[in-house]
Amino acid sequence: MGKVEALAETERFSLVDFLLHLGELDRRGACEKTSYATIFGYLTRRLGFSESDAVRRVRVARAARKYPSILRLLARGELHIVGISLLEPVLTPENHQRLLQRAARRSTREIDRMVAELSPACAPPRDMIRALPAPTPPPSVGSSGPLELPKLPKLIAGPAPTPTAPQGEEPARRVVFNFTADEEVRARFEEARDLLRHRFPQGRMEEVIGEALRRLVEQECPAKRGRTRKPTASGPRSRRIAKWVRDEVWHRDGGRCAYIGADGARCGATGWLEFDHILPWALGGRSDDPANIRLLCRVHNMAEAKRLLGVLRSGGRSDAGLNSSSRRHSVF
Ligand SMILES: [Zn+2]
Repeated sequence: MGKVEALAETERFSLVDFLLHLGELDRRGACEKTSYATIFGYLTRRLGFSESDAVRRVRVARAARKYPSILRLLARGELHIVGISLLEPVLTPENHQRLLQRAARRSTREIDRMVAELSPACAPPRDMIRALPAPTPPPSVGSSGPLELPKLPKLIAGPAPTPTAPQGEEPARRVVFNFTADEEVRARFEEARDLLRHRFPQGRMEEVIGEALRRLVEQECPAKRGRTRKPTASGPRSRRIAKWVRDEVWHRDGGRCAYIGADGARCGATGWLEFDHILPWALGGRSDDPANIRLLCRVHNMAEAKRLLGVLRSGGRSDAGLNSSSRRHSVF
């Protein structure tokens, strides 16, 4: 046991060291210039952490920058990383010493309860999508077993039935959605359910929300709704990026961030996408030329704006400086 305890201590020291370095990387915004965009992307995509492990480490590294005593408690084994990540949202400069001491040597469940007592009673639970365990596949034809009589349909509404897969096919994975919403969302849902009654007589949430999301994606996603054609005559120079240019850029970049980091890898994020002028409009860049527009995620768009500002401030308002960056970050 002595060996295991020594190893556990080494692991804790190593974790503290890791969190210190992670906090510093985060403070410097070092990941903005890489294809990972965020420290979370770096931990999951580069270092192979699971999403939950990555979230915890980022949360604890940030908390430790504000409240360094966290690291001492971690190193001593008096607090664990899961407990600190649970505590982090309720820590303040005034209460952190007291709460950290109270949480020392407590189990995850005890800390969870402590946090629940401290949080406002009406705080809604976090949005969540949780995968259900894989359903058992139906028995194959000819398998031995007791003969089951067909069941009569239920007359009383119960929980939504789980669709069964055809014989021989793997049953579809199911997930549970958890979120809270206001009365307006509820009214919209009920209105949509009533409008779709002919199509979905049972009006199950999965059917109504699934249909609404399908229509929304078709309407919003240029790859699904078909491209807008380029007009034959070009209008006056404008900062606004025309719809046909947006559609073309979206198709070309595959609906993903086109930023290529210093590591040579492409970001490829699909969320928080923005259209970016490679040569800024204010410097003569065109909005009606797809070659001057690209898709960037928000982190990389901001990183590019900061970089450009740096070039301009340092007097590097030269075509060479701007063009070389365009070549480096462009995917075409
Ligand atoms: Zn990006």
